[in-house]
Amino acid sequence: MRILLANMPTPPQESFGRRSQPLGIAYLAAYLLERGHDVEIFEGNGEAGGIDALVERCLASRAGLIGFSTTTPSFPLVGQAAARYRAGGGTALLVAGGHHVSAVLPTSVLAEVPELDAVVTGEGEQTLAELVEAHASGAGFAGIRGLSWRDGDELVWNGSRKLLSSLDSLPLPARHLLPPLSEYAGVRRWPTLDVVPCATIAASRGCPYRCSFCDIQSFYRREDGPMRRVRRPESVAEEMALVQRDFGAEHFAFVDDLFPYAPGWVQRFSDALTEAGRPGTFSFAARADHLVKHPTLLGPLAAAGCSSIEMGIESGSQSVLDRYQKDLSVAVNLEAIRLVQASGIRTIIDFIMFDPWTTPVELAESLDFLEAAKADAGYPTTAYSRLTFYPGTPLYDRWAAGPMPHPDDPEWFGDPDVHRIWVALGDFRDAAQRRVNEEIEGWRRVHRQAVHDQAEDVRGAAVRQMYRLRRLPHRALRELVSLTLGAGLDEAGTAGVIRRSVAVLDASRDERRDLSGRAAATRADVRERDSDRLLSACE
Ligand code: SF4
Repeated sequence: MRILLANMPTPPQESFGRRSQPLGIAYLAAYLLERGHDVEIFEGNGEAGGIDALVERCLASRAGLIGFSTTTPSFPLVGQAAARYRAGGGTALLVAGGHHVSAVLPTSVLAEVPELDAVVTGEGEQTLAELVEAHASGAGFAGIRGLSWRDGDELVWNGSRKLLSSLDSLPLPARHLLPPLSEYAGVRRWPTLDVVPCATIAASRGCPYRCSFCDIQSFYRREDGPMRRVRRPESVAEEMALVQRDFGAEHFAFVDDLFPYAPGWVQRFSDALTEAGRPGTFSFAARADHLVKHPTLLGPLAAAGCSSIEMGIESGSQSVLDRYQKDLSVAVNLEAIRLVQASGIRTIIDFIMFDPWTTPVELAESLDFLEAAKADAGYPTTAYSRLTFYPGTPLYDRWAAGPMPHPDDPEWFGDPDVHRIWVALGDFRDAAQRRVNEEIEGWRRVHRQAVHDQAEDVRGAAVRQMYRLRRLPHRALRELVSLTLGAGLDEAGTAGVIRRSVAVLDASRDERRDLSGRAAATRADVRERDSDRLLSACE
């Protein structure tokens, strides 16, 4: 049977372009291909035509089944696409899968989107394959575990499915059905800052922890059997070598919920990578307590090509870590960052700065933490990061027990002072963030040229300025919080914060122009000396 699998565009990723390869849908495609089906993939993220292009592709396709892979933010688009497809005369079986539909009551999705015929919950490989085969043969759907479906007017849930016991039995993801790697965001290599192609890869699935904002538990909650499964490290290294050879990947971003950071696995993985000729650099996400428990693994990982480790630090306030049920302390988080930095591996830390229960004191504690950690706080947007609620998580339930105001409503924050800080931070963002981004980009160019010119002093200045600029939103937030905790935050206070930030940006621009001008003059001098030398050698 012909099958079209659509990765629904995740707002606002439509405008961000293609961030990373959707591995889950490529695994589904590979599983179906292995069973003799004809599969195509529509990658919605970064697709210029958006939802119009998706509906057009669905109507033009000869698929007998169309699967929409969706998250909570992209779920509303499933209803729109399905309705427009049916209105256009489309007759394929319409199926939804992914994190959102797995977290909510499966039959409620069918009730919400009347054009959908079935919903696959949790890991989709086995359930989707059985559904395709039943649909192709005309058999009923009654025995397919992990499926909810429409039986006439009745909405039926067939009950949970047993998880795959081994990930090594799965075929490798059908990457050839995805857009080329060149269309996805690459990663920057240090110190040249050149961007290299990046592929996603998975060494494991599942996570035994229970962070209260994370949808991993709700994704698996309707499935039976051990959730945590880890691939053979040798097979992961072989896949990396293959993807480097066939698709040109130079960096691998592990998408595991929890990378298998344990002595035996890491040692075998490092050995297998050496055996495979070190096929590119890689990055993964790990828990701080795992890193602190096994600090000696960082050396072999760095030697094997690990360039960065991402940590879900979330907050510098113990009360927030407890609210998020992280089962971690601020001190352990700080120690993990220190250890990773000391190993020469770059740290990327994820943060949730704001949630409805945030207090000004918690914000101050988080900003102190970021200062003390001196880590790369992910992106310049860390200061603006706000909790997203995923259905089925404990924090969603706590939030849904109240009036559930829209995120733009002042009542979204329980503390009116935090709402005032949020609004003032928005004013700062409108006034300065575009210039912050431009300045960082400008200093990247200076840095690249300095590496080329081997001008170490200029390169050092560029590193210092990029670090400072990435922190400018944090600095603005810190000032807003200090005002709130002191004399009080008012319009004049916000204007002062913006004015001081703009002055920093102006100084950065002036220094950058000055350094670039001097570097260009030095290059011209060198060129002139070289040509003089050449001329006198010819005479
Ligand atoms: S946030 Fe990370 S550690 Fe916590 S439950 Fe989710 S995947 Fe596991």
